[in-house]
Amino acid sequence: MTPTGAHVQPGNNNWCPIVNTPKYLVKFRLAVVIVSCLLIITYLAILGLVVSGAFRSMADTADAIDDKRAITAANGALESLRTHLGATVRDNAYWDDAYEKMGAPDAVEWATENWGSTTVDYPLYDTAVVIDPEGEPLIAYHKGEPLPDLVRFFKGKLEPILSAARKPDPGRDALPVAFIETREGIAVVGAAAIQPYEFEKGSTLANLKVLLFSKQLTEDVVADISKTFTIAGLSLERSVDERSLHASLRDIAGQEIAYFAWPHVAPGSTSYVRVRPVLIVSGLMLLLLLAGIAVAGYGIFRAVKSGERAADYRAKHDALTGLLNRAGFFEKMDIALETAPATTSLHMIDLDGFKPVNDAWGHAVGDQLIQAVAERLIKTLPNNAVISRLGGDEFAVVGRGHADLERDTIHLILSALSIPFVIGGRSIEISGSIGTSNTRQTELDASELLRQADLALYRAKDRGRGTSVLFDVSIDEDVTKTALLEQELRRALVNGDVRAVFQPLMDAASREVKGVEALARWTSPTRGDLPPDVFIKVAEKAGLIDQLGFSILKKTVAEAARWPGIGVSVNVSPLQLSNPYFAAEVEVILTAAGFDPARLTVEVTEGVLIASPDLAKRTFSTLRSLGIKIALDDFGSGFASIGALREFGFDRMKIDRSLVKALDYDGDHRQVLQATIALAKALRLPVTAEGVETEEQAVMVRLSGCDQLQGFLFGTPKTADEITSLYFASPDALASHRPQ
Ligand code: C2E
Ligand code: CA
Ligand code: CA
Repeated sequence: MTPTGAHVQPGNNNWCPIVNTPKYLVKFRLAVVIVSCLLIITYLAILGLVVSGAFRSMADTADAIDDKRAITAANGALESLRTHLGATVRDNAYWDDAYEKMGAPDAVEWATENWGSTTVDYPLYDTAVVIDPEGEPLIAYHKGEPLPDLVRFFKGKLEPILSAARKPDPGRDALPVAFIETREGIAVVGAAAIQPYEFEKGSTLANLKVLLFSKQLTEDVVADISKTFTIAGLSLERSVDERSLHASLRDIAGQEIAYFAWPHVAPGSTSYVRVRPVLIVSGLMLLLLLAGIAVAGYGIFRAVKSGERAADYRAKHDALTGLLNRAGFFEKMDIALETAPATTSLHMIDLDGFKPVNDAWGHAVGDQLIQAVAERLIKTLPNNAVISRLGGDEFAVVGRGHADLERDTIHLILSALSIPFVIGGRSIEISGSIGTSNTRQTELDASELLRQADLALYRAKDRGRGTSVLFDVSIDEDVTKTALLEQELRRALVNGDVRAVFQPLMDAASREVKGVEALARWTSPTRGDLPPDVFIKVAEKAGLIDQLGFSILKKTVAEAARWPGIGVSVNVSPLQLSNPYFAAEVEVILTAAGFDPARLTVEVTEGVLIASPDLAKRTFSTLRSLGIKIALDDFGSGFASIGALREFGFDRMKIDRSLVKALDYDGDHRQVLQATIALAKALRLPVTAEGVETEEQAVMVRLSGCDQLQGFLFGTPKTADEITSLYFASPDALASHRPQ
């Protein structure tokens, strides 16, 4: 899981899991998914019902319209049958020739010829009858044949029609036309009295002959009607089911005697049945489409979610070690403080000696060391400890803050880090400093806990490698004091209250003044005179060291104008050398003062070999190109290697006061001093002995090879005026620069 493929498992320090989704959330999400599915299914079901309902209702409406049309058509057909027959009877009966002929002797022949014989194949009627007022048939023909049993043929039901035809003036359009039962089935029948075309209205018809036509509704006739009126399946029935589709055939009295009947065509239903599979398939396809969209959507949702999770993991974890990073650390801290507000401990860890490893072996080795440290912390600490890398070589551990657990944790961390690390075949020894804070006394928020642990860590760092400090209020008080001191120093620098004093540097053989070393002095308004060791550190921490250094340099070169012929030394902090513009600024100051750079020596301590060696080397070479000399200060008090000395190419070495002081005790120390001086000589470096307080010391260091001596024996640090009056006031003094 770790981006480097390193051996750290993030799960190992999941004291309060942040990546795993809580169970209730999983259940909630599941419920949301199920409810959404049910809603979609319900929606689709309703949609399906509505759509199919709409189609069904359309189909029903279409069916009903068609039924109505068919009924209207059937009734129209019956009406048309009656009208046609009525018109035919009228045309033949209202006829002057016919009327006349009926009174003539050849009435029968005439009637037979005109009406009887035409019944053979005449489309409008198949039966023709002429009846006299007494009810005797003059002629009766059916399909071209005489019809002797007329009464039986019409089943004795002719009488009402005949009498209706003889009623006075029924009117041309009110002739009796109706359906009648015959021996052959059902026929349409119509009758009219035979009369002149222009017969006088209101004349009695009782004594006139009556002409009667009828037409059998044979299967052919019915089929014809079915076709003409587009009523599929039309048939003539003697009885029907009330609910079926039909139209009634009524006799002259208005009685139903037969029916035209036909089946439901239901074109709507038929169409509906035809489109239903299409509807179902479309519905299924829609369902499939929705399912596809849902599946794709879910896939995208999953991908986005897992992308989010990965991004969240990256945002909260350190790429190099897989440990929590600052953001992840704060999240866990908040959770820890919420769950255990009174028992949370925070350990801030800073590796001692990491930077030299990084500088010496390169960043790849540095990275491996950091990974190894992370691994070791994970292996060493209990599973519930939250381990994070806050950056660089800084780690933090959050744990339960019971006092004994806290002590155990500190012990575990310190001892884990004190075991050498083997990286690429090299054994690397580092250690860790720990600052610890906890919530046992007061409840704190994450940032306050962090601030306290940070202060404790500073304190631990100050105390030296491999130590731990538990925060207490005195640290805060110290911090407050330091802050106050910082403010005072800042003001002093602005006001020019930081002074310079000068200590003479004597030629070991002639005991003449060869130079002076400038030393800073400051009197704090609240704390009185402070030793430079103290306020230089304050200046370094507060970022004031550049200002302080340059101010001493300016004062020194200004005063040195009064001291011709001797050199001046100034102390330069390693931090000043990290300023890339340092050399340029020095040049500006010297030029402005008209000071010969060859007279200036810059004193640096071994710190520069560690802080930023490359930058320091570059600064040195610029300074040297101006003619300025560089001396290594306090040599013998630290660990500077010979290689480093050679590499930096110093111009002078100053033996630390402690080595000179040690001469007072026994022989071993003398040998250390002599060996140290011999080393410098081997590198062809002139040597200054510092802190020479007694004549014996002076003699001893001179005999050991020091060419320059500095110490209270020759003079304590003095003001510029004192230096002037001591060494440069009289022509005498000028000549010799002898000490007083
Ligand atoms: P240093 O550069 O080693 O300065 C010499 C220190 O030894 C001075 O202490 C001086 O007063 C003291 N000393 C000289 N002769 C004797 C002696 O015979 N016996 C004893 N016991 N001490 C002697 P001082 O002035 O307290 O300065 C302490 C340190 O503060 C200096 O050590 C130097 O590292 C730093 N410092 C002083 N002024 C400046 C400055 O302007 N800039 C920087 N960066 N550091 C400064
Ligand atoms: Ca010095
Ligand atoms: Ca020194």
